[in-house]
Amino acid sequence: MQVTGKCHCEAISFQAEVDPGRAVLCHCTDCRVMSGAPYRSIIQTRETDFKLLSGQPKMYYKYGESGNRRELAFCDTCGSHLYATSVGDEPNRLFGLRTGILDQCEDLRPTLQVWCLSEVSWAQDVSQIQRVDKVPGA
Ligand SMILES: [Zn+2]
Ligand SMILES: [Zn+2]
Repeated sequence: MQVTGKCHCEAISFQAEVDPGRAVLCHCTDCRVMSGAPYRSIIQTRETDFKLLSGQPKMYYKYGESGNRRELAFCDTCGSHLYATSVGDEPNRLFGLRTGILDQCEDLRPTLQVWCLSEVSWAQDVSQIQRVDKVPGA
């Protein structure tokens, strides 16, 4: 399916082609720190299926546990995370899109959880936490 996304300040927008049945939740500590949330959801697309429509992402580089260098794209105005990919000249790299920035996030229900060794202990148990619809003043 085609998805569309944009960062919070809307300077960067894009479209991509994804398989909607392949969203994953990632519990790794890098996702936790960089997203600011206990875990995040990701869906893959291919570099050739990703089309930047406006703006220019800024890149941040890190080393994964494998020792491989990873390229992480974000908006340098609002800080929204866009995708992660490999570094190198391999053709048609995989892009791990952050589903929270996609207009179709609701339709991309994760089917797999990864890096569960580092998940926060209460991550699987949020349904019983008290709920309110909105936060006044936020
Ligand atoms: Zn932005
Ligand atoms: Zn992760």
